[in-house]
Amino acid sequence: MAQDRTYPPAPAPLPAPVTDNHSHIEPQQHFPAAPLTLDQQVAAAAAVGVSRIVQCGCDLEAARWTAKVAVKAPAVVGAIAIHPNDAARLAKTGGYAAALAELAELAAGEPRIRAIGETGLDYFRTGPAGRPAQLAAFGDHIALAKELDLALQIHDRDAHADVIAALDRDGAPERTVFHCFSGDREMAALAASRGWYCSFGGVVTFKSAGELRAAVSELPPELVLVETDAPYLTPEPFRGRPNAPYLIPQTMRVLAEQMGFELERACRQVQENTTRVYGDW
Ligand SMILES: [Zn+2]
Repeated sequence: MAQDRTYPPAPAPLPAPVTDNHSHIEPQQHFPAAPLTLDQQVAAAAAVGVSRIVQCGCDLEAARWTAKVAVKAPAVVGAIAIHPNDAARLAKTGGYAAALAELAELAAGEPRIRAIGETGLDYFRTGPAGRPAQLAAFGDHIALAKELDLALQIHDRDAHADVIAALDRDGAPERTVFHCFSGDREMAALAASRGWYCSFGGVVTFKSAGELRAAVSELPPELVLVETDAPYLTPEPFRGRPNAPYLIPQTMRVLAEQMGFELERACRQVQENTTRVYGDW
């Protein structure tokens, strides 16, 4: 059967507002059959209680778009970076230094850019030959976040130990977020011991994700965030179809259960955490 590339129906609204703290809603996404426009994304999200969005632009083109949109749309702030897989590619072609310089300029020049991310290590897509370039880029992004006093959004794919080692070696920024946290209980406990935030996406709703749900319960509620990573990783029961910030409620319901909170209290907690990390907007 061909993949259904249409957006799922809207879920029941949340009882209190939350923020999608990591989403890719730039127009060049090519997964949805007909991508929602920025205004449609914001309106659909607001209608179900997703009041704010952190748009993540993690290549130069998306980062430029993010900086513009963060100014224009009151519900949106930006996170920008050179994605670890892109960093490895750019290092090969010699374009990395210029890309990083432009990124730093964008981040320093626009107060609605609130985070550097997603950055980190991806050992799933990038082979051993690209790892030194990823590690160097990760270090550059950690330094930039600290220099500009911005939050750091981490992409960690099959690289838990090396990501943690790099953060410990360089000194993690004060507000460090594991986007799409994919560790187990032990790693959640380690993140908690360092005061690092863990952000959960649709994967936490998947039947196979028992260990990930257990990781939520391991964390102090003050360190839990929610995201979509749209347009992918759509929560159940719509797994496989395009994702968007308005689909947060199902993920939030599962998080609330694992946090041991009623839904409204969980929403308020997560919203407060989000503001602590990115500031208010
Ligand atoms: Zn992402």
